[in-house]
Amino acid sequence: MSSRIHPGSPSSCPVIVVGFGLAGLSASCELVVRGVPVHILERQQKPGGNSIKASSGINGVPTRFQAQGSDTVSAFYNDTVDSAGVNLMKMETETRKKLISSLTESSSEAINWLVDEQGIDLTRVAQLGGHSHARTHRGAGLTPPGASIVLKLLKQLQASPLVTLETDTTVTKILKTNAVVVGVEVSHAGETRKIEGPVIFTAGGFAGDSSGLLARYRPDLAGLPSTNEALPGSVDLLVNVSAQLLDMEQVQVHPTGFVDPKEPAKPTKFLAAEALRGEGGILLRHGKRFINELATRKEISDEIMALPAEDLQPTKQWDILLVLDEAAYQATKTHVDFYMWKGLMRKTSIFELENSDVALETIKKYGAVVQGKGVSDPLGRSTFGNWNLENPTFESAVYVGTVTPVVHYTMGGVIFSPKAEVLDSGASPIKGLWAAGETTSGIHGENRLGGSSLLECVVFGRIAGQNAATFMGAHDGA
Ligand SMILES: Cc1cc2nc3c(=O)[nH]c(=O)nc-3n(C[C@H](O)[C@H](O)[C@H](O)COP(=O)(O)OP(=O)(O)OC[C@H]3O[C@@H](n4cnc5c(N)ncnc54)[C@H](O)[C@@H]3O)c2cc1C
Repeated sequence: MSSRIHPGSPSSCPVIVVGFGLAGLSASCELVVRGVPVHILERQQKPGGNSIKASSGINGVPTRFQAQGSDTVSAFYNDTVDSAGVNLMKMETETRKKLISSLTESSSEAINWLVDEQGIDLTRVAQLGGHSHARTHRGAGLTPPGASIVLKLLKQLQASPLVTLETDTTVTKILKTNAVVVGVEVSHAGETRKIEGPVIFTAGGFAGDSSGLLARYRPDLAGLPSTNEALPGSVDLLVNVSAQLLDMEQVQVHPTGFVDPKEPAKPTKFLAAEALRGEGGILLRHGKRFINELATRKEISDEIMALPAEDLQPTKQWDILLVLDEAAYQATKTHVDFYMWKGLMRKTSIFELENSDVALETIKKYGAVVQGKGVSDPLGRSTFGNWNLENPTFESAVYVGTVTPVVHYTMGGVIFSPKAEVLDSGASPIKGLWAAGETTSGIHGENRLGGSSLLECVVFGRIAGQNAATFMGAHDGA
């Protein structure tokens, strides 16, 4: 599709995009393809935000890369609602349902857009925790999905004369005149200035803001390590122009952040991708499995955090072993080789594991369940990825790393509409202001499904870009 600004429209002023992770990139792509100038403001020196770290993939249903005929949009919708939790779905039910419908119904198109229009490889599909089917897409190559998506979109946008990208520049205020958002105030190298234009706010969440928004909304999580950059959340900028917040206390703790044996107390942890469990990996505590490894992140994290923590001041963490057999390793080789290179995982034998007698027995029982030898899993796991270690001995090779729960994602944020409009206290759109990505709320409730954040960035980022382009007078041309 080609499209352009309508001649004579007030197109000289750009659309301002605040934050340049995947939501900002997706919005910018839609503006550029419609001929609308974009002014992107990013506080860090390099674009990519937390999006560039994404390691498991992006959800889409149905796609040509999934096992044919196995999955449906309604199964994805139901999994998302189940994961969001009954109590939260009772609040604002209609709004939440519309957002979840929009997300799940647009997921196939989002994958097609990335693959067919942007040239990104998403051919590998895994089943992550809380999903009833394999629907999380990543590439077959060495680059993790977040980096491959972000770097490709970034390269294309940087080649466009319509794009102005300012890094190291923090948006400090959103400017509103006569109930319309008209620009932002920014700070760069100690200087403050104003930039005019409607605003798409894609500034991410606050999982790394432990002493700010996290301490305000979830003081109980103080001291837990995080996968996010340790930077302040920016959603208060929206509140100052009468946007409303929802679910701010809903914070996702991911069950598996790697404990680096070289720096065990380090507060920022590297994420152990969920694909490791999806492809067959198990979790052991003192040699025993203790939960269905494909339960939701919340269920697994809660189970672990109910135990006494090791107190490694200033970090509070637990000691859980992630174990892969040779076949699960082969299926996740690119991930695991990288983790081994970083010293976060190692190849060893069952004999070397803590409580090796117990661990061997556990692995034998799990193997019997996987082989379907008339035993179902007492912990309720029903899919086992590629695990195929049938008759384990003490000498059998395993790939292991120590993991602990980490603050990972914030489900709460600004209330927005399926058109990505930011809503005020009367649930009316604030003119000239859109939002997308982790900064928004209403979709994930108490628990985001793995792979659905990159998806929301693409789906609602693109919607925000399309609607801001229309606001600027652009018309689809094809
Ligand atoms: C290690 C890790 C692995 C993950 N893996 C997956 C996965 O496999 N699949 C999945 O779906 N999700 C995954 N997630 C979650 C997902 O990556 C993020 O939720 C999502 O990418 C957020 O995208 P975003 O565009 O909303 O925000 P971000 O990518 O965080 O971008 C926001 C940007 O806004 C900038 N910014 C903030 N405030 C300001 C301001 N005031 N002025 C200027 N700039 C500002 C920030 O510096 C940042 O660059 C993962 C997250 C992490 C940390």
